[in-house]
Amino acid sequence: MNFSEFVSAGVSVLADFDRSAAMAAGLSTARVRDLARVHHTYFGPTQFTRKQREALAAADGMPVDQVVLIERKLTAVGDAAERWRIRLDLVRHRGSYRALTKRIARLIHVPVSPPKPSCRFSRSKAGMRTMILTYNERDLADLEHLLRQMITSDNPAAAQMAEALFTLLRDGDSLPHARPRPIVLVPVDDHVRIHAGNGDEVTLILTDGTTMTGAEYLHHEFGDTLEVAAFHPQHGPVNLYHTKRLANTKQKTMSKLVCPACAFPDCKATAETTQTHHIHAWAHGGMTNMDNLAELCPFHNGVNADNRNGPFGYIDNAGARIHWIAPNGVKVPMTTPGAMELLFG
Ligand SMILES: [Zn+2]
Repeated sequence: MNFSEFVSAGVSVLADFDRSAAMAAGLSTARVRDLARVHHTYFGPTQFTRKQREALAAADGMPVDQVVLIERKLTAVGDAAERWRIRLDLVRHRGSYRALTKRIARLIHVPVSPPKPSCRFSRSKAGMRTMILTYNERDLADLEHLLRQMITSDNPAAAQMAEALFTLLRDGDSLPHARPRPIVLVPVDDHVRIHAGNGDEVTLILTDGTTMTGAEYLHHEFGDTLEVAAFHPQHGPVNLYHTKRLANTKQKTMSKLVCPACAFPDCKATAETTQTHHIHAWAHGGMTNMDNLAELCPFHNGVNADNRNGPFGYIDNAGARIHWIAPNGVKVPMTTPGAMELLFG
């Protein structure tokens, strides 16, 4: 078979179609399903034998891809007689695939239910993220209209509209920067060495992935450009005792440094969405101290039983390293390393 025979092959090549042979030959399951549907229509048993013969004759010369498209779209039509009526109209189409798509849209009306409002954020890819927003058409039309007024025709619109949207959001205080400044992670003994005047040999890690020397740290420590979080190698984050049930802002920040994602293994929730959890339950006398806090996503916070005998295991922090203890007692470290792992290994 040469290429012109291949592209002009019509529905007749499917006369002896066989599902198992198609699967065995390595066709995709979606393709096999499409071809089987066409084969069943044109060569399978039906009450409409006269219309079947008529359609087969009319489809002669129509590319298989177009016949496949027609049958795929006809699955939305419930009544068999109605399907034959529409099919006999569509198989007479001669022209582009695109034109056929339009003709189908005019003849087959699929009821659509409106999607629910939603806003989704992807994970980062090379420093970029994608946001997908579904919302009322009037409100989004207003937004699009406004953004289009803010761009020029010299460059592609999509990139300019992304910039324009953030110009709008960042204008004033409507979208504050979530992390305006990095936090310095300082082992307490380094803190002592730095203050004793040996700061130049010490390299400190910042939460944004950068580093600074102890001397730079001293220079900044009491300024307003950096926040400092100190950690003891055995006891973990330096304690801020607190007698209230809810952790305060500083404790939550520290807890998210120690536990930058949900502590359950392989859970994808980042500290952006986690809740601060009492390792020893507040109800059982557990304090809101740094040595009793871990981050869990709302789901795992819900299933993590206070009595530690639940089917989901529990969170513990022996040696100031947060672990998940499986129901069979196996100790599993956090998937995402936190400040203690970064500082002390
Ligand atoms: Zn989780």
